[in-house]
Amino acid sequence: MYKLADRIQIVSLHNGRIFLIDDEITELEGSPQHTEKALKLLEKGCMEEELNRIMPLEDTQKLLEFLKEEELLRENWENEYLDTIVEKQLYYLDDFSIDSNQLQSNLKSAKVVILGIGGVGSVLIQHLIGAGIENFILIDNDVVNIHNLNRQFLYTQEDFGKPKVKAAENFMRKVNPSVKVTSYQTTIDSIKSLDFLASHSIDIFINAADYPKHLDKIVDEYCFERKIPWVGSGVGRHQGFWGPLFVPGKTCCLNCFIAEEEKEMKEIEKIIRERSNSIIQASFAPTNTIVSAFLAMDVIHFLAQINQIHSYLTRCQIDFTTLKLNRFTIDEPKLCNCGGE
Ligand SMILES: [Zn+2]
Repeated sequence: MYKLADRIQIVSLHNGRIFLIDDEITELEGSPQHTEKALKLLEKGCMEEELNRIMPLEDTQKLLEFLKEEELLRENWENEYLDTIVEKQLYYLDDFSIDSNQLQSNLKSAKVVILGIGGVGSVLIQHLIGAGIENFILIDNDVVNIHNLNRQFLYTQEDFGKPKVKAAENFMRKVNPSVKVTSYQTTIDSIKSLDFLASHSIDIFINAADYPKHLDKIVDEYCFERKIPWVGSGVGRHQGFWGPLFVPGKTCCLNCFIAEEEKEMKEIEKIIRERSNSIIQASFAPTNTIVSAFLAMDVIHFLAQINQIHSYLTRCQIDFTTLKLNRFTIDEPKLCNCGGE
């Protein structure tokens, strides 16, 4: 059974020209009448014999080959996730691969560490559990407090006083009873304090905590030692950022990234960054959610093994007063020149 990719639109003009509309516009050659009929069949899904009935064998072969080359054809594809949480997501994943079931299976088997389940981490969890990720390690030392509820939507009044890791776990089980969650109610303040992760194999480490101040450096050192990809993000009053996503063995480390980044910064910007206190009183849910959702998008793409990852070795920064998006990226050198690997 052959079927055209879900996203494709067929447009035929009065003069007989036929186009396939995707992100790109592709014109099809061949007899317009036959081709249009064949495409209509392929849109619904059909067997090769059905195509042969309406056009010469040679034309069928040509059309199928062309569509395959362009990755617009799905062969014997079925949504293996019908009637599950991710049924609809499969059609989104189809935009990136001829086998979206495989991408979903990559998500299902991935193991994610989330450090910090506050503003960013809690929204992130909602996205990741909805995306069909099933293996989590949660780390946070806090308990749920009334002032969390403006932006940490997975908690309710019933959770007040409970450890965040436990309240989050309850929420996750309600969405997907098959989820496997290991939680640690503890504070991370040194590489040693991450020792309890030694027995876990981890596909990505997400730093969604903002305390202590140099936590990113601790996470970076730990992850490069263990060759674990990692990413972080932060939300301020009127701006926020996500990324860079580091992949040990493929990208440089945080220190090398910052060194490159600072070459582009003015002196005053460096001083402001150095003095900025990562913990601010102000918190506004929409800006927090937007940054967390962008982060979630990259994490989901990365774990599904989709190439489109905006924050790959890139810091993406949004200014909410102007809606400007700044991206700082490094192409060269990709690997460390700090003596790290
Ligand atoms: Zn380095």
